[in-house]
Amino acid sequence: MSLLRKKIIAANWKMNMTSAEAKSFIDDLKLEMKNFDGTEIVIVPSFTVLPKVSEIVTELPGITVGAQNMWHEASGAFTGEVSAAMLREFFTRYVILGHSERRTIFGETDELINKKVKAAHAASLRPILCVGETLAERDAGTHHAVLAKQLKGSLAGLDTDQMLDTVIAYEPVWAIGTGRTATPEQAQEAHAFIRKTLGEIFDPATATKVRIQYGGSVKADNAKLLLHQPDIDGALVGGASLDARAFAKIIKAASRS
Ligand code: PEP
Repeated sequence: MSLLRKKIIAANWKMNMTSAEAKSFIDDLKLEMKNFDGTEIVIVPSFTVLPKVSEIVTELPGITVGAQNMWHEASGAFTGEVSAAMLREFFTRYVILGHSERRTIFGETDELINKKVKAAHAASLRPILCVGETLAERDAGTHHAVLAKQLKGSLAGLDTDQMLDTVIAYEPVWAIGTGRTATPEQAQEAHAFIRKTLGEIFDPATATKVRIQYGGSVKADNAKLLLHQPDIDGALVGGASLDARAFAKIIKAASRS
C-alpha cells in the first residue's frame, strides 16, 4: 500500500436514509471514530439529506460530505436536476459521477460524464469517477479496453491538477450489490491497469498520486485483503455503508496496522 495516498472510504447511501436515520447512523459511527487512523471518510447521502449530514459532520474532523450526482449546467430549465453550486452551498466536497446505475438506468455516456467532471472541478468539487466492466465484458476478456475507453472519455481535457483532485472508483458492474466481490488479485490487476492508463493519459508521476477506490460488495470480512493491495487506495461502499458498525469495520480495515 502507498504511503503517498491517504486512504478514502466513501459511503454511497444511494436512495436510502432519511435525515433522522442519517443522524442516528453518524451518532453510532462517532462512537467508533477514535480507531480511525487518519483515513478520509466521505458520507454520500441523497440530495435531500445533504444539509443534515453536512451540518453534523462539520464538527467531525476526517469526515466530509459527497453527492451522488449533479448536472453540468450552472442553472436553467433542467427539471429535477441539481447544479454544482447548489451542492457547494452545503459544503459538499465530493461528487460521485458515472456510477454504473447512472450509466445503465439513466443512460449516461462518457461524453456527458466528462461534462459533469469538468463542471465539478470548475466549482471546486472533487469527482469520484466510477468506471467498470460488465460481466459479459469481463468474460469476453475486454475489461481493459472498456476501462481505457471510460477513462479516456470521462477525463478528456482535464489538466494534471484536476486529475490529482479526482478519485477513480473501480466498480466492476458484476460485483455491485450482487454479493459477488472481485478477488483481491482481480481488483489489484484492474487497479494497476487503471494507474498505467492514467500514466498514459497524463504522466506516470501524476498517476502514482491518484487515489483509486475499489467498489463492489465490500464488506467487513473482505475489506482488509482488498484494501491492502498496493494499488487500492480505499473503497466505495454501497450496501454495507447503511449499517454504522459494518461501515466502521471497513474503515478500520483500511488502517495501516
Ligand atoms: C456502489 O453502489 O457503489 C456499491 C459498491 O454497492 P455495493 O457495495 O452494495 O456493491
